[in-house]
Amino acid sequence: MHYDVAIIGAGAMGSAAAYHLSKTGKKILVLDQFEPPHTYGSSHGQSRIIREAYFESPLYVPLVQQAYVLWQELEQASGKQLFLKTGGLMLGHKDSKVFSGAEHSAIKWNVWYEVIGSKEISKRFPAFRPDYNTVALYEKNAGLLFPEACITAHLSLASGSNTGFRFNEKVTEVSSLADGTISINTTKGNYTAGKLIVSNGAWMTTLFPSLQMPLTVTRQPLCWFDFEAGNPEWFSPANFPIYIWELSRHNVFYGFPALENKLKIAIHHGGIESNPDTVDREVHREEIDHLASIISTHFNVKVTYSHSSVCMYTNTATEDFIIDRHPANNNIIIASPCSGHGFKFSSAIGKLLCEMACEAPLSFDLSAFSLKTQTS
Ligand SMILES: Cc1cc2nc3c(=O)[nH]c(=O)nc-3n(C[C@H](O)[C@H](O)[C@H](O)COP(=O)(O)OP(=O)(O)OC[C@H]3O[C@@H](n4cnc5c(N)ncnc54)[C@H](O)[C@@H]3O)c2cc1C
Repeated sequence: MHYDVAIIGAGAMGSAAAYHLSKTGKKILVLDQFEPPHTYGSSHGQSRIIREAYFESPLYVPLVQQAYVLWQELEQASGKQLFLKTGGLMLGHKDSKVFSGAEHSAIKWNVWYEVIGSKEISKRFPAFRPDYNTVALYEKNAGLLFPEACITAHLSLASGSNTGFRFNEKVTEVSSLADGTISINTTKGNYTAGKLIVSNGAWMTTLFPSLQMPLTVTRQPLCWFDFEAGNPEWFSPANFPIYIWELSRHNVFYGFPALENKLKIAIHHGGIESNPDTVDREVHREEIDHLASIISTHFNVKVTYSHSSVCMYTNTATEDFIIDRHPANNNIIIASPCSGHGFKFSSAIGKLLCEMACEAPLSFDLSAFSLKTQTS
């Protein structure tokens, strides 16, 4: 069967691309080895942070601003709640990347923010227990997205007579025919497509070993805790913003207000290098204890372990993204490696992937995310 556009991977990026492409009238094929949303890739676990004063680089601010608009449109189109606004705190010492990078981006793009010192943090957000030299950038528009609901919304709105979904079907090989058409072999059949979007996340290197993409997949545990003592109200979305807290350069953790009365926390980066097919999916006692001790040191609460999950980051060396065309076939579009911070952008990246597949002008300059930037 021939399609105008095929998409490999219907997670965050692929589902968003499918949604935008479905509006163009093109005949599309959406393939996934599992049935999204699922818990085996990089897009599960109840919540994802979205924030505007982007500490990583000001480059991302216009992209996240586009993403906010598109999430809002998707909420309206789907009739589902996808976003919860909580405000956000970027905490650290004044020279930390998380704090100073966020301030730099906010100044560059004129994003509203406040800088608040340790005493003020404790007064306004009594759950937090910062040491005397911690400062925070507070931004109003930050909050969280519900990733499973976002993927479901994109996929359900993409369904229609022009869209073929093939789930529980793994792509085993991709090759280019003489005219640039792409041949796709799966565990269940063969398809051809005029354009191919490869958004297969942590499995990215497996389909194109010859590209030698410099990617490292890491195992990232997440834990949820129940309240044992303290004031759970201090941790409710009304009183507790999403946060990212840098203790030192490679010691960063982040978390969310309590949802369903459980507090979720995780470490940013530093996970063990893993293979997506064999990654250890059990969260171990010492990992749980480490996260529990972070909570007891930095928050005014006592907690007990509830449950956990393992997710994967697909990292480039600079922690930037790769969104580009395959160097040997322009019709193949590569989009996924998002270094552990891509979900918030997926609404906008999906639109860009659609524009690339349709050879339309791009709504964001992607030159900083080229394959060459990461391989040279
Ligand atoms: C623990 C954790 C916390 C994070 N927190 C945040 C956050 O707070 N904010 C934020 O913005 N980002 C965050 N991120 C990053 C963000 O979630 C990811 O960048 C994003 O979800 C990746 O989406 P994706 O579409 O590339 O991958 P996925 O959503 O994993 O999709 C890839 C899909 O490809 C499919 N696939 C793979 N190989 C094949 C094949 N051969 N054939 C068919 N299908 C295939 C997989 O089954 C999967 O469904 C976090 C990531 C993790 C792991």
